[in-house]
Amino acid sequence: MIPTTMILTPIIPGLCLVPAENDGRFPFAHSFLIEGTTRALIDTGCGESVIDALRRERKIDLVIASHSHPDHTALNWKFEGTPIYAPQYAADTFGNFESLGERFAGCELAGEWRAYVRAAMNFRTALATQTFADGHIFDFGKIKLTAIHTPGHTVDHMCLFEPPHGALLSFDLDLSSFGPWYGHAESDIAAFENSIRKVMSLDPRVIVSSHKGIITDDIPTRLQRYLDVIAARDQILLDCLPRVQTLDDLIDLSPFYRGYPYAPTIMRYWEAQMIRKHLDRLGVDLPQRSQ
Ligand SMILES: [Zn+2]
Repeated sequence: MIPTTMILTPIIPGLCLVPAENDGRFPFAHSFLIEGTTRALIDTGCGESVIDALRRERKIDLVIASHSHPDHTALNWKFEGTPIYAPQYAADTFGNFESLGERFAGCELAGEWRAYVRAAMNFRTALATQTFADGHIFDFGKIKLTAIHTPGHTVDHMCLFEPPHGALLSFDLDLSSFGPWYGHAESDIAAFENSIRKVMSLDPRVIVSSHKGIITDDIPTRLQRYLDVIAARDQILLDCLPRVQTLDDLIDLSPFYRGYPYAPTIMRYWEAQMIRKHLDRLGVDLPQRSQ
């Protein structure tokens, strides 16, 4: 259903979830709104109908991006003239429709990636006007958010933490049942594990992720379960090895995704990246399929 007025979900005073189209499932992601001394929108991938309704009702003073992924930044272009804060760790390609294709899908599939994100998310180039790094404090008066660099998913993934309420915006450290996603060349399993442990050490009382929304119960257990998916994937691959001769055979099994519901060529590329990273850390070397 397309909203005509904004329905916001309060998280803590001054901070609301902006529910995304499709209940926040990819290619959409929930956004966040801060009503403080200034009004900030965090991420813009919640869908065009939601963003347009928001813009009709409220003037946004600044936009903050959690990381470079298009399902979080697609509609930054609608805020032309508004400061856009991006993590400094990949600022050279942030918001750039051309260079993100190579970064996220490799040279061969860059064109296909661009066609997909334009059609699915209406992503257009919108460059950052400011950058922020680990430890940066966004000060909105009553509410202050501390930026925490949590790489692994992408090199520039950030969480935002509000210590007084123990509220963590965890974005794509998303606590989904699928588990951690690290399908790019730049993604890094060990860094992702460290990022999950960093989040655990904050002992958050509420976590809000971009695709699962507000979570308040069993947080330590959920984080541990999310971390455990990575080791479980090692085992999934080890169990597959007797059945395959080549790396391509293993990728053909789609052991993590179990099939590709959209953009199959690109999803296969991402899954192959994830498989290669696991094999690297397992010390398993499989030959390529001969042509
Ligand atoms: Zn992401």
